[in-house]
Amino acid sequence: MENKPWLAYYPPQIPAHLHYPEVPLTYFLEEAAEHHPDKQALSFLGKKIDFRSLAKEVKKFAGILRQLGVAKGDRVAVMLPNCPQAVFCYYGALWIGAIVVQTNPLYMERELIFQLNDAEVETIVCLDLVYSKVSKAKPKTKLKNIIVTRMEDYLPFPKNLLYPLVQKRKGLHPTIDFLGDGCLSLKNLMKDADEFVEPAKISPKADLALLQYTGGTTGRAKGVMLTHKNLVANVIQCHAWFYKSEAGKERFLGAVPFFHVYGMTVAMNLSIRMAGTLVMVPKFDVDLLLKTITKEKPTVFPGAPTMYIALINHSQLSKYDLSSIEACISGSAPLPTEVQESFEELTKGRLVEGYGLTECSPVTHANPIWDQRVTGSIGLPWPDTEAKIVDLKTDAPLPPGEIGELVVRGPQVMKGYWKKPEETEQVLREGWLYTGDLAFMDEKGYFYIVDRKKDMIIAGGFNIYPREVEEVLYEHKAVSEAAVVGVPDPYRGETVKAFIVVKKNAAVSEQELNIFCRERLAAYKVPRLYEFRSELPKTMVGKVLKKELIENKEASDDPT
Ligand code: AMP
Repeated sequence: MENKPWLAYYPPQIPAHLHYPEVPLTYFLEEAAEHHPDKQALSFLGKKIDFRSLAKEVKKFAGILRQLGVAKGDRVAVMLPNCPQAVFCYYGALWIGAIVVQTNPLYMERELIFQLNDAEVETIVCLDLVYSKVSKAKPKTKLKNIIVTRMEDYLPFPKNLLYPLVQKRKGLHPTIDFLGDGCLSLKNLMKDADEFVEPAKISPKADLALLQYTGGTTGRAKGVMLTHKNLVANVIQCHAWFYKSEAGKERFLGAVPFFHVYGMTVAMNLSIRMAGTLVMVPKFDVDLLLKTITKEKPTVFPGAPTMYIALINHSQLSKYDLSSIEACISGSAPLPTEVQESFEELTKGRLVEGYGLTECSPVTHANPIWDQRVTGSIGLPWPDTEAKIVDLKTDAPLPPGEIGELVVRGPQVMKGYWKKPEETEQVLREGWLYTGDLAFMDEKGYFYIVDRKKDMIIAGGFNIYPREVEEVLYEHKAVSEAAVVGVPDPYRGETVKAFIVVKKNAAVSEQELNIFCRERLAAYKVPRLYEFRSELPKTMVGKVLKKELIENKEASDDPT
């Protein structure tokens, strides 16, 4: 207990150690299909699919892959937004022991080619909308099979009222068979597919389930190797944290993309593990999300701070009913206190901050959902997860209150980076993962992220953590979003610049913000430069792309 003070703050219902069965990730789906076959597993813009049918679709897709020659260990890229196909293609590939390579549908051709080549992908399943990008990439990769699907293929008829919100696009293919040229139609393949497909024999500890691409801690895009055991462990840890929930009771809102490890584990896989209903939205559109919440009444909403910010700032919020939401874990980026409080006031549910990274499947910390949580903290390390803060130079463990690098160890920590042994060695030592995040722990064992190591600003010899400055800016009533970066300065080396998005129907000047910050921060931390923007460039999970702000770009071409 001595070096794990956090255990004293665990709710009594959560054990320090959990049992992790030696099973492939698909086991949870089999279990749900066996015990809750008629329970609704998926809900997509009005289309409902029960666990029996989902398991059938999974096996049919697995059979298709086998027929195409996909074998255990082969990589299968899934390039889909959140929709039923994203779920059954993922589980179908795992069923035959293939390794899923999650591919962001917004990737540009160059990024796609890099990923497909690095992972040596021969088979991809994608949406008709991105088919032209994929087919252009094909000659420059080892791709053999392009399986194409349309969002409409899994919609009820007549189309649901929500559909126009995702249908803001032109030039739809009336049928994907038109596409020809080595392209296979998922819908046609599924018609004749066999649903009695034997699963591959999986060694959960050794066999990879996923190659998840990330910029990681050292900048270059690389594939994080996550085994079945890693994913199973993180789902079991998530489940333990949701100790009040019963099997079959929860409705999960799948708003974070499943091609990001956060949406994949905390929404998709956890929902299946708990035999819940996964209510999916194919993209982050505030109107669509509000309508979906009002109609589908989800109880659990894993999200990123920017999602909660967008909801609470919606101009016609009173038209919607968000009262079904009981529990939310916010991850991916710091959760401003103001946002947490406003969202809880609105829903009467609990919104707690958690933390994770791709290399950890992803979650390692969270605040207790229904018990003692600490605002501004990422919470406590999860069961079987060790965490410590180490000195950046000497690697020595630091006492509570001191800032250093956060390192973690546990069953959810990756096997390594795909084909990158040197980069793996840099971040993974004796099972400890060096997260690249600056943090400290308090006496109780609650952890606090100070910033990314690489985002720290050094101005005139002082260390400035952008997050601290952003927190202050968020306290200003006219500020909707704030991002703080370091920009080159001839005298101070770097200087602090704030990018601000002002709330609708509010106004604030640079001078006012400056006075506001001066009253709350040491002078060296106060931004010297301000820039007002209508929006900030962000990733699909709502992380602000600071690199792009520094380079002064408006929009993102790096959607990971
Ligand atoms: P990714 O691998 O894309 O999931 O990114 C992981 C990174 O997101 C972490 O290393 C952190 O820098 C950041 N992150 C995740 N959760 C939080 C949080 N609650 N507060 C601050 N940063 C976070």
